[in-house]
Amino acid sequence: MAMETKESASGSIQKERERIAKFQGCIAAGCYHTVGLKTYGEVIGVGRGGVLYGVNSWRDIIAVSAQSDRTVGLKADGTVVKAGYSEYLGDKFECDVSRLRDIILVSAGRCHIVALAADGVSATGMLEFGQCNIGDWRDKIISVSAGYLHTVGLKADGTVVAAGKNEDGECNVGNWWDIVSVSAGWSRTVGLKADGTVVAVGCNRFGGCDVSNWRDIVSVSAGSDHTVGLKADGTVVAIGYNKQGQCNVSGWRDIVSISAGSSHTVGLKADGTVVAVGDNEKGQCNVNNWKNIGPFSKERLLEATQWESQGLCKDCGSQKSGFIFKKCKSCGE
Ligand SMILES: [Zn+2]
Repeated sequence: MAMETKESASGSIQKERERIAKFQGCIAAGCYHTVGLKTYGEVIGVGRGGVLYGVNSWRDIIAVSAQSDRTVGLKADGTVVKAGYSEYLGDKFECDVSRLRDIILVSAGRCHIVALAADGVSATGMLEFGQCNIGDWRDKIISVSAGYLHTVGLKADGTVVAAGKNEDGECNVGNWWDIVSVSAGWSRTVGLKADGTVVAVGCNRFGGCDVSNWRDIVSVSAGSDHTVGLKADGTVVAIGYNKQGQCNVSGWRDIVSISAGSSHTVGLKADGTVVAVGDNEKGQCNVNNWKNIGPFSKERLLEATQWESQGLCKDCGSQKSGFIFKKCKSCGE
């Protein structure tokens, strides 16, 4: 009987994991910025301004990813757009995403970008630590995550491969099994197991790897020095460096997606609003007025386009007013 109970608990975790899967990539936290995906395929961002340059003009986006001072967007047509470092700071690690096609998942690292297509993975950007040497990942890779200077890939058989900087052991994932998702942070890698437990390797100077007692987890996100886990009941746990309050998530409810930035944490709620805690030096936590954040929907795009053409608010369909900068009377957008 005990076995049966365990089996059904595991089954309900899997169900919840599948339910929230579509919200992955709807929010992303970088070092000093946060981006959110509107249900009509646009991207909203707060924080260090230059990093977000051009993001407002992105259209038909279905997922976003952020790391450090970099943002990438996956378009509905399988191409990739980017903003941040190289555009803003003249970074020498040019990540060329212009040739990427048929991409189904993209992940931003500090100096590199990793992309997953149906027929394999590719990486572009800084080569110094070998974080882009993933061309020999022959086995079926079903998910990827770019860390600060390393890259992690999840294989269909539940094992994990890693490449890149391994100074803190962040690539020592060779003995992991039964993994269903991975998240690479600054100097740490976190893996979610099918049974809802979590494993972590890498830098543990602030306890960000101390996740062995976590249960009922359906999603994980590795920040710089903290680790965040979403539980099946919609609450969130966090551990590690908390000097800026980035782990103060205990009051969160109805969360469907999480993202750990360098020193802040963001959570997407089921109603399309967003919460944030932690460092707000550049305004990266100013997400309180965000709405309609969630999976891209063609129906919502059609509706928003129609509303916009009638001079109405794309978010709620209400009248806009104002002389030059027209604002929605109802929701402020
Ligand atoms: Zn409105």
